Amino acid sequence: MYRTKTCGELRIDHVGQQVTLAGWVQRTRKMGALTFVDLRDRYGITQLVFDEQKNPALCEQAGKLGREFVLQVKGTVNERFAKNAKIPTGDIEILVDELQVLNASEVPPFTIEDHTDGGDELRMKYRYLDLRRTPVRQNIELRHKFCLAVRHFLDNKGFLEIETPVLVGSTPEGARDFIVPSRMNPGQFYALPQSPQTLKQLLMVAGMDRYFQIVKCFRDEDLRADRQPEFTQIDCEMSFVEQDDIISIFEEMTKYLFKEVRGYDLGEQPFIRLPWSEAMRRFGSDKPDMRFGMEFVELKDVLSGTGEFAVFNEAEYIGGICAEGCASYTRKQLDELTNFVKSPQIGAKGLVYARVQEDGTVKSSVDKFYTPEVLNRLKETMNAKPGDLILILSGPDAMKTRKQLCELRLLMGSRLGLRDKNKFALLWVVDFPMFEWSDEEGRLMAMHHPFTSPKPSDIDKLDTDPASVLADAYDMVCNGVEVGGGSIRIHDAVLQAKIFKVLGFTPEKAQEQFGFLMNAFKYGAPPHGGLAYGLDRFVSLFAGLDSIRDCIAFPKNNSGRDVMLDAPSAVDDKQLDELMLEIRSAEK
Ligand code: ASP
Repeated sequence: MYRTKTCGELRIDHVGQQVTLAGWVQRTRKMGALTFVDLRDRYGITQLVFDEQKNPALCEQAGKLGREFVLQVKGTVNERFAKNAKIPTGDIEILVDELQVLNASEVPPFTIEDHTDGGDELRMKYRYLDLRRTPVRQNIELRHKFCLAVRHFLDNKGFLEIETPVLVGSTPEGARDFIVPSRMNPGQFYALPQSPQTLKQLLMVAGMDRYFQIVKCFRDEDLRADRQPEFTQIDCEMSFVEQDDIISIFEEMTKYLFKEVRGYDLGEQPFIRLPWSEAMRRFGSDKPDMRFGMEFVELKDVLSGTGEFAVFNEAEYIGGICAEGCASYTRKQLDELTNFVKSPQIGAKGLVYARVQEDGTVKSSVDKFYTPEVLNRLKETMNAKPGDLILILSGPDAMKTRKQLCELRLLMGSRLGLRDKNKFALLWVVDFPMFEWSDEEGRLMAMHHPFTSPKPSDIDKLDTDPASVLADAYDMVCNGVEVGGGSIRIHDAVLQAKIFKVLGFTPEKAQEQFGFLMNAFKYGAPPHGGLAYGLDRFVSLFAGLDSIRDCIAFPKNNSGRDVMLDAPSAVDDKQLDELMLEIRSAEK
């Protein structure tokens, strides 16, 4: 036996016992005749003591131990003289009789402590060392618990976990595919699934009734903090259901996960359901952070045509938010906000502000254009109180301006401390538009995906006014993050063919790309629907992380590289030959 106990389990009750521990050297310190070594494993840290007076040879050996050496020690559990209340094993120490170095270690490139001196890139290169650090390991443990709880819940509800293939065919809609050349079928390629969408629908045709899978998905997109080229979904599908059935079962699962894994009670109330158009109007976002208010107030009636300010008179949309208690913002602080909205990422032309002073009068950056009566009306429309600061954006495109105002609202929410990571606000965004116009493609694109069902009452409009058709699609949003999304699917081959047509597919192209699905629909497809959660995002919300990377054992960096494995990388000419591939130029 390498060990009889772990480094995290010994307590005062174990005093006097003979134990064997194994682990890594966290640090060593010498104090007079005594040498202390902190021994670490996944379960905790235990202090080892070597006494020069009792065993000088052993003590000398201990003095030579370096950080991250792997040890096995035998000794007696002893009550500590100076206890350490900060760690669970802090009441005891081990008086070591035998020490065996199982493996030496080079000096690690960064300190393996809760607060490390290692930068991001270095920690990713040596991710196996980073994972030894408690805060990182805890995220991995949390992810494990989360997955177990998901499986437990869905199993109880009769869902079957079914694996779907990783080597599939390329599909034209959605993000860019990762493709894999086939040696046995030269010149042909598999694609890695962006999600098992069509496969889970085929499982419904197959009568599986309730499916789920914790599954890797691959999308070759530009990366951001909350995106990875490969990520994990909790993918689910159900037969003989309507939107309400799906919402209710997954709302129950979410409440269960919060309680079981996060110890957070979301209460008995059902989640708010916000139609997409209302979410855009009130928050400028299809994933509003509802931990705080600061809703948009439309100000065109108040500020357009009521003064000499040409910008507002010409604007299509004018919207304001009210930041409570911020009237005392300094010039510098207001300049910062102006620079923020004018930055290239946000792209607003400028920011108008109005302070509500203690006497109730309004002092604004557009005073010279408006009468005090108009400014007073502004205050009342905004429902602003003395001490509040009104921030206003305007523009020729309502949707764009709302999105800019959304960024400002989020910034002010953070500044005012209203985005507490330990508080959770969940909601469903429903009634998404079926299509969105793509300037790049010059056609309508599916907003969710092409298998999403239009609202039955809107089917008639597919021919006359497709842009106005709403979908039976829904997203679950938590703290401004889209944690999941799905839809009721089309199960009728004729309707599916019609949607492909609206999306610009010729019947031949639709048959070539999606023939397998439309053929399956000829053999008794049940009504069905489902959704998928982004597991990485969900876990990082639970862990209070800013990036999903920290809850993934081996993540990729912002350029899609695994810096530890040094992937992607070139391959041998022999491999290319077998695949009948030739590299034209390594340069872009
Ligand atoms: N497959 C969809 C996605 O990846 C989710 C769904 O509709 O179930 O977004």
